[in-house]
Amino acid sequence: MNHFELSGGELACEDVGLSAIAEAVGTPVYVYSTATLERHYTVLRDALVSEGLGDPLIAFAVKSNSNVAVLRTLGRLGAGADTVSEGEIRRALAAGIPAERIVFSGVGKTEAEIAFALRNGVGEINVESEPEMHTASAVAQSMGTRATIAIRVNPDVSAGGHAKISTGKSDNKFGVSFSEAERLYAQASNNAGLKPVGVTCHIGSQITHLAPLEEAFVKMRSLVERLRGEGLAVERLDLGGGLGVPYFNMPTPATPADYAAMIARTMKGLDVQFAFEPGRMISANAGVLLSTVQHIHERPEGRKFVVLDAAMNDLIRPAMYDAYHDIRPVKPREGDPVTYDVVGPICETGDTFTRDRDLPRLEAGDLVAFMSAGAYGAVMSSEYNSRLLVPEVLVNGDQFAVIRPRPTYEDMLDREAMPGWLASDT
Ligand SMILES: *Cc1c(COP(=O)(O)O)cnc(C)c1O
Repeated sequence: MNHFELSGGELACEDVGLSAIAEAVGTPVYVYSTATLERHYTVLRDALVSEGLGDPLIAFAVKSNSNVAVLRTLGRLGAGADTVSEGEIRRALAAGIPAERIVFSGVGKTEAEIAFALRNGVGEINVESEPEMHTASAVAQSMGTRATIAIRVNPDVSAGGHAKISTGKSDNKFGVSFSEAERLYAQASNNAGLKPVGVTCHIGSQITHLAPLEEAFVKMRSLVERLRGEGLAVERLDLGGGLGVPYFNMPTPATPADYAAMIARTMKGLDVQFAFEPGRMISANAGVLLSTVQHIHERPEGRKFVVLDAAMNDLIRPAMYDAYHDIRPVKPREGDPVTYDVVGPICETGDTFTRDRDLPRLEAGDLVAFMSAGAYGAVMSSEYNSRLLVPEVLVNGDQFAVIRPRPTYEDMLDREAMPGWLASDT
């Protein structure tokens, strides 16, 4: 459920009509709903707690939506943060998320990033390979400390979904095999720079069926039991993120309640602290990208192109993953739908959001909203074509605030520098 509904003929976010935001901030602009972010977090947390899964750490995947106001909204409810770079750790800390609730994931952490995480007391470093484990140990020892780590396992299950967001097969770059995990865990337990506390997995994103998750989780449970059988302490089991969300026109995913029940079933009797790293399921349906129709371009063969002021640099998911976003006019017209291709202004054929989509009739100046754009939307935006970075707005009840302003062209140009040999303009 989300808080973007028609109200008096106009699409609103909570109690704010989207046209008021477009007027105040201009378009394109991302708009997020506080109530939806809070609801998604709370529904997941309540489902896990009511299944008797203790006091789980729900570390929001910052890469899905890294705005510090969004992070603070979730952090205030008790969320932690799953991060993949020093920049994301800094965002989580700036949002006020306690360091011990921050998890540091990612396959290529640099020494400097590991040192930063250790200096700031980050709660868990998810180690993805043997060389990385040795780096973490060396950095920690040079600082006279121990790195609290979890070993990321690649459970070798196929989760379906798009190949670019599948991470749990043994032929992709994430994590180590089960046998390697056992060996590394034992090694880490005897290493002066390391304190292994658990194991972790993340098999992919937008997983709509529970079966692949369950297959992975059963294997993770056996791993915990094998490690304990060898006398090793395992306090935490981090089950990653990846539960899919109901994107319009897509298979309905399992609910948080089904997910929690499956975990309770597969983990029955296992005494560990559970951790989760959900991104998309919290943020995707909490955001829209708002855009204005520039014009309708009708080709002689009959194709009708809706040319927007938003482009692939603002929302790249359709171009990168063939992602489907429901597109809704902010003030839908009555009457028969029209079949449109919806495109951006960038000089690439890939700058096409959708083809042959039936939509209520549109005219120049109309506002449209790309639904389910709160995850992997603004975070992947760029200035390609020297288009200004898309701004972000957060709504809370009848209030809204700009949480990332649109830069000016001066800001954009001021970031660049002329080398000395080109300094004079002749
Ligand atoms: C991307 C990622 C997540 C979040 O994935 P979602 O599909 O957005 O829930 C969680 N953990 C890790 C390690 C990731 O790489």
